[in-house]
Amino acid sequence: MRHNGSMKINGSIRIMALASSSLLAASSQAADNFVLVAHGGAGDYSKMTPPIIEARREGMVKAIRVGYAVLAGGGASLDAVEATIRELEDSGLYDAGRGAYYTKEGVPEMDAAIMDGRTLQAGSVASVKRIANPIHLARLVMEKTPHVLLVAEGAEEFAKSQGIELVSPYYFYNEREWKRFQDAQQAKQAGDGHGTVGVVALDKAGNLAAGTSTGGTVLKMPGRVGDSPIIGAGTYANNDSCAVSATGTGEFFMRNVVASDICARVRYLNVTVQQAAGDVVMKELVEQKGDGGVIVLDRRGNIATPFNTTGMMTAIVHGDGKIKLSGWSKNAEPVVVPAGP
Ligand code: ASP
Repeated sequence: MRHNGSMKINGSIRIMALASSSLLAASSQAADNFVLVAHGGAGDYSKMTPPIIEARREGMVKAIRVGYAVLAGGGASLDAVEATIRELEDSGLYDAGRGAYYTKEGVPEMDAAIMDGRTLQAGSVASVKRIANPIHLARLVMEKTPHVLLVAEGAEEFAKSQGIELVSPYYFYNEREWKRFQDAQQAKQAGDGHGTVGVVALDKAGNLAAGTSTGGTVLKMPGRVGDSPIIGAGTYANNDSCAVSATGTGEFFMRNVVASDICARVRYLNVTVQQAAGDVVMKELVEQKGDGGVIVLDRRGNIATPFNTTGMMTAIVHGDGKIKLSGWSKNAEPVVVPAGP
């Protein structure tokens, strides 16, 4: 539904292509004193069909509106992060929740994490198979247990104790992912997966939060855990430095403790988030052939969204209510959609 630089989202809302991508570059927090940034996974978007890209953009807009409403109403960044990610998990359009990729055994195993930059409280879950919203369970681990990370059956038992219904693995069945799984199996390689979701937010009270949710990499070994639920690798938030959510081949992000490294650079080297994230993602990871990207936000509202893959779907919204979407290709012209009615 694209015509001459404009298109329709949800059949009714016009979004306009921006003349330049400069609006998405580093931006400072203005009078509208809250920010939410989301990603929908870094990877090779070149093989993704236009209808899927458009569906993902629409799914992203829907989710961002939910997070925006939380922040606009004076809600906490933690709540905005969770609410936005839940929506993305439910959309079935991304490698998270209902759209999670399958392991070698043909079932999804999901990881998620959430972190509060004000208190440094964090919670995560890994290798869960029967949880519709892993990000919510991660939040409960943070708030209702003395632990940070629960995995597999233990995490699911805990979920039951919290009144969360365990869903059947068929809940996660979808034709697209089944085909991706079969193609990858046939090719005997993981293919070009991308679609982890992550959100960082700054609320009106000046607090940061970060969250990430994923089905991991295509055809991963059962039991494999990526960077997303590892605090400091794929997810991190600290009011003293920044909030980060990462996406890409998790093993590189774990070995380089990417999220924590970026925040440590901001804190101790006193560099900007753009410099810190750029050095880690575009230099260090590139040297190691570690593919991926990050979204980073500091307390002043400065944003960095570097990625070293062909794409990383990204959305940014400030208090002015304009959602800026970009990243489905390196030179994608950003589009802007209103966050409110
Ligand atoms: N980082 C995720 C993982 O390795 C996957 C991704 O972001 O695409 O599990």
